[in-house]
Amino acid sequence: MKIIGAISEIRKFSSEVRISGKTIGVVPTMGFLHEGHLSLIDIAKKNADVVIVTIFVNPSQFGPNEDFDKYPRDFEHDRKLCESRGVDAIFAPSVKEMYPDNLTSWVLEEKLSQNLCGKSRPNHFRGVTTIVAKLFNAVLPDTAVFGEKDYQQAQIIKRMTRDLNFPVRIITAPIVREKDGLAMSSRNKYLSPDERKRALSVSQSLKEAEDSIKNGESDPRKISESVKLRISQSGGRVDYVEILDAETLEPVNMIKGKTLIAVAAFFGTTRLIDNKVL
Ligand code: AMP
Repeated sequence: MKIIGAISEIRKFSSEVRISGKTIGVVPTMGFLHEGHLSLIDIAKKNADVVIVTIFVNPSQFGPNEDFDKYPRDFEHDRKLCESRGVDAIFAPSVKEMYPDNLTSWVLEEKLSQNLCGKSRPNHFRGVTTIVAKLFNAVLPDTAVFGEKDYQQAQIIKRMTRDLNFPVRIITAPIVREKDGLAMSSRNKYLSPDERKRALSVSQSLKEAEDSIKNGESDPRKISESVKLRISQSGGRVDYVEILDAETLEPVNMIKGKTLIAVAAFFGTTRLIDNKVL
């Protein structure tokens, strides 16, 4: 497995793969890998001959008071996991490599990025679309795999790829959960044992919402109120609970067709997101 830090070098690696007639799948991550990330790697391997994992904690998608500095990092652990999963190369550039001092160009998606996390985290998706575009241009993949854990992000990336004609096929992968239902996330590391227990209210309330929709409830306000109540009764501070059309990410008046229930909530200072598509 190759470990590469320079854009010129990963381009050379990818170009050689392409010349040999093979396809490239990329899995963009911020590292501190867990089974959720590894499931994306497995999907990339099924859909491409050569798999590149990118590891880059992207400063431009963090707000000024967010956790960029303390975001968990463990390159050695990530390296071992990638190796054990048959990854061909890790692209782990420095901040300087991706953001030279005089960078003044950004990639903006202007519709799907307006609500949900886009409201609570201004400029977050500008950072995401810009880094993913830069990673696509560095790695030159045929396929890229993103997790539905970050459902809004995956929709925005699909839109950006279509709108800007990136020759990349985007595949999305289902959410991987801990045995008790908590969606896996690098940020779960921040939770104290007590917060970890309380945080279960997120996946549990989503499951309850799913059940009541299956039993005929179609009023999005009733569903979102009960999800909010469940989380706040468990000591979580709700950022948002939204019920949206899963394609357009616009609010719905009645639950019918493909619907997204998206949640963001704080437990202590840790902000967690989760969702369900029905
Ligand atoms: P991150 O390192 O958190 O930026 O995530 C990198 C990629 O892994 C993104 O496409 C995420 O959606 C995906 N991912 C993170 N957690 C999970 C999970 N629990 N299940 C599936 N995919 C995930």
